[in-house]
Amino acid sequence: MTGTHVICGGGVAGLAAALCLADRRDGKSIILVERSDTLGGLLRTFDYGPHGRFDCGMHFWTETGHTAFDQRVRGLLPGDAWESLSGTRRDLSGLFFRGRLQVHSQFPDLRTLPDPERSACLADFFDHLNRLGGRMPSSPASGESFQTHARRRFGRLIADNYVIPIAERNHGLPGSQLDAMARFLPLLDRVIMFDEGAFGDLMKSDVLRGLLAFPEQQRLPAQYASKQGSLYPREYGIGGVIAALAAELKRLGVTIMTGAQITAVATSGRTVTSVTVRQGATTLNVGPIERLVWASPVVGLAPLLAIERGLSAPVSMRRTVLIHLALAHPPEIGGLYCFFVGDATRGTYRMTNYPAYCPAAARPGHYPVTLEMIVDTGRSKDPAALIADGIADARTFGLLRDGEQPVFSAAEVLPSGFPTLAIPAIAAFNAARAAVIDRALNNLTLTGILARPDLFFQTDILRDLVETLNG
Ligand SMILES: Cc1cc2nc3c(=O)[nH]c(=O)nc-3n(C[C@H](O)[C@H](O)[C@H](O)COP(=O)(O)OP(=O)(O)OC[C@H]3O[C@@H](n4cnc5c(N)ncnc54)[C@H](O)[C@@H]3O)c2cc1C
Repeated sequence: MTGTHVICGGGVAGLAAALCLADRRDGKSIILVERSDTLGGLLRTFDYGPHGRFDCGMHFWTETGHTAFDQRVRGLLPGDAWESLSGTRRDLSGLFFRGRLQVHSQFPDLRTLPDPERSACLADFFDHLNRLGGRMPSSPASGESFQTHARRRFGRLIADNYVIPIAERNHGLPGSQLDAMARFLPLLDRVIMFDEGAFGDLMKSDVLRGLLAFPEQQRLPAQYASKQGSLYPREYGIGGVIAALAAELKRLGVTIMTGAQITAVATSGRTVTSVTVRQGATTLNVGPIERLVWASPVVGLAPLLAIERGLSAPVSMRRTVLIHLALAHPPEIGGLYCFFVGDATRGTYRMTNYPAYCPAAARPGHYPVTLEMIVDTGRSKDPAALIADGIADARTFGLLRDGEQPVFSAAEVLPSGFPTLAIPAIAAFNAARAAVIDRALNNLTLTGILARPDLFFQTDILRDLVETLNG
């Protein structure tokens, strides 16, 4: 049969899907359709010529645990062209919390609270755990608010005063209106309450280990460290991996169309029969379809299948804004790769320090960092105003001294983004996905961010994709 595999989305999910399909060498043609002019999605690199390169904040290529696929990706670059980040060096993330930078962990450290407050937190937490019968709080139900989820996890005192406010600041909505997905960015599923000594014993309990964070990430016992490593190219810029992957796909005969969109999907019974792709003034009809892999937000597919159900609440996508700054001196943040932000700022939720994991990123007098913001579609996207916000945040974090300016600055508003984490918006997203799945199209595969409830982190996306496509 002479069918074509069509992949919609050229982020990490779409590119990895193309690789899996191309490696089948089943004689079918493969077309990858990417809306923007650049491949990579969140793994793209911006190149400002003499002013240097910047990624979209900290993004690695994470291993899936599927050895053959992981080896395949590793083989895209010569062995000595990778930085391998594993064990306690895999991820060194901090948190700007209560006016200071925590370099030892990205989780809120409640040991820094003045004593009556700290003891009250401990008492409330263990009371709460007793009421749960010492059992691990269950995962959030569909449609559960972040407020309910956090209270169920930590008890009211910690949730209301320290955990929920962090999500509210970053996502711009009250905890009662935020979907429990807000726990992913920044990661809010643990807090720190005990020193290392006491923690040694506490870690024997699965429940406590699930709720409390080890206080010193660099000394986390090996048995608790993530088993999956991450890869980053030695030559600075994650875009180098995307370029190598795109070159491999081309070598395998994959057609890559950037600046292109799927504008129609035709079905017959339970089969996708053809798709229409528009690229500039050119329109291409592709069919018969062997498989349609949807590797971009599913809300874009629902209308093409004439699905209206559940879409009454608009899924407004918040935009990711990147403020790239080159500093004249290395940031003094204890070797952290990045830190998240728990305090109210002008909008930064994460700062990335590229030279910490890719030494080649730095040159004398030029130390690239990126501040990431998630910005409402309504907010001004004037680059000068965004840069001013970024510089003000950089001063708050101590990255720039008083009166000091960065040696280079740029703002980028990414075309793709993240659904507003309001409960009705996530419900509409989930309804669109459920309605698409209900159509039971036998040659449609959904993959990528939120292709399944809570599918968010890259490692989970890639693992899910490899298991779906490679069986
Ligand atoms: C702001 C943010 C920060 C994150 N940080 C981390 C992190 O630190 N660690 C981690 O593990 N995960 C992180 N994630 C999770 C992230 O989902 C994964 O890491 C992964 O990058 C997602 O890959 P993807 O290919 O699904 O999506 P994307 O990288 O978003 O790629 C989707 C691609 O599809 C294209 N596209 C969209 N619509 C269409 C269309 N209609 N037609 C054609 N093309 C289209 C887009 O242009 C884009 O290139 C983050 C997510 C967000 C939103």
